[in-house]
Amino acid sequence: MTLSIPFIDLKSQYAELKTSIDSRIQRVLDHGQYIMGPEVRELEQQLETFTGAKHCITVASGTEALLIALMALGIKAGDEVITSSFTFAATAEVIVLLGATPVFVDVDPVTCNLDPKLIEAAITDKTRAIMPVSLYGQVADMDEINAVAARHGHLPVIEDAAQSFGAEYKGRKSCNLSTIGCTSFFPSKPLGCYGDGGAVFTNDDALAKAIREIRVHGQERRYYHTRVGVGGRMDTIQCAVVLGKLERFDWEIARRIEAGDRYIDMLATIHGVDAPQIGADRTSVWGQFTVQADNREAVLERLKTLGVPTAVHYPVPLHFQPAYKDSCRIVGALKHSETAASRVFSLPMHPYLDVEIQRMIVSKVADALV
Ligand SMILES: *Cc1c(COP(=O)(O)O)cnc(C)c1O
Repeated sequence: MTLSIPFIDLKSQYAELKTSIDSRIQRVLDHGQYIMGPEVRELEQQLETFTGAKHCITVASGTEALLIALMALGIKAGDEVITSSFTFAATAEVIVLLGATPVFVDVDPVTCNLDPKLIEAAITDKTRAIMPVSLYGQVADMDEINAVAARHGHLPVIEDAAQSFGAEYKGRKSCNLSTIGCTSFFPSKPLGCYGDGGAVFTNDDALAKAIREIRVHGQERRYYHTRVGVGGRMDTIQCAVVLGKLERFDWEIARRIEAGDRYIDMLATIHGVDAPQIGADRTSVWGQFTVQADNREAVLERLKTLGVPTAVHYPVPLHFQPAYKDSCRIVGALKHSETAASRVFSLPMHPYLDVEIQRMIVSKVADALV
């Protein structure tokens, strides 16, 4: 018997939510307000309640959320933004697009999140923001990072929460832990739509106003452009999809946490693979369930023949990428970022993953390691 294991199971999710998602999409088709229809504000209000942030502004994607956040903060050519090299390219891409310089410091070798102890040494008179990434669904050390930022002229802190929406940190929600939080509704993220989408969160009224204006070409009102903006709105239909998925999101987070705990238990008995570790004061929504092992390429080759889908998030740190190696600044050795890039791989993870499939996956991981 060949069993096909999905890496992410959007089909089971749709089967559970079909009635709600279909009727919400149909409602948009009926009222016809495809751009900035009523579902846009309805979703923003629900996400404000969910995160506790005063303002949610939906945008065209997670990348657009990061770009608009930096634009609202006035980041421009010559400025520096401190961030991680071990992340998806979008994190640094938006900095470079604005003519600013990504300044990379190393990550913690276990969580792969920015090491807050290394940030201070990277701050110069050009530093304008710190942008930690809550990688794989676990929130970065936000309190420590906020404290460094506060000591240096209250630098703004932007959380790249594209993988961590729904995660908790000391009882508070990801996206509501710093000056600005940015997330993505890309289909494979913990809360996804059926296309591109994203959101920006803040408690600062002036920043929220700037973000709303930048989202629509810097307009204060129609055809009155007070600043340079972008075409960055999220479609009404995509907002309707997220509204449908929100009905089950708390339940899905609980299932993700259970599946993560089960994986960690099962992997504990297997030598040669390092399971992820989650801080006692936080949760992970497992945007990715990512383990580490030596000889990764050989292990992945064997897992492929054994029918276990895997992915590598991410194989090349950004300071080695042709697009960024000359436009970034590196502070200290980025050896944990480089080691992680050579050892990490992600296993199937979604709320509909059952214990038998997980047992099979873990036994095949054990087989692949020998
Ligand atoms: C997915 C992701 C993004 C970009 O989100 P999009 O919606 O795909 O533009 C940014 N940062 C991180 C860490 C991501 O995982």
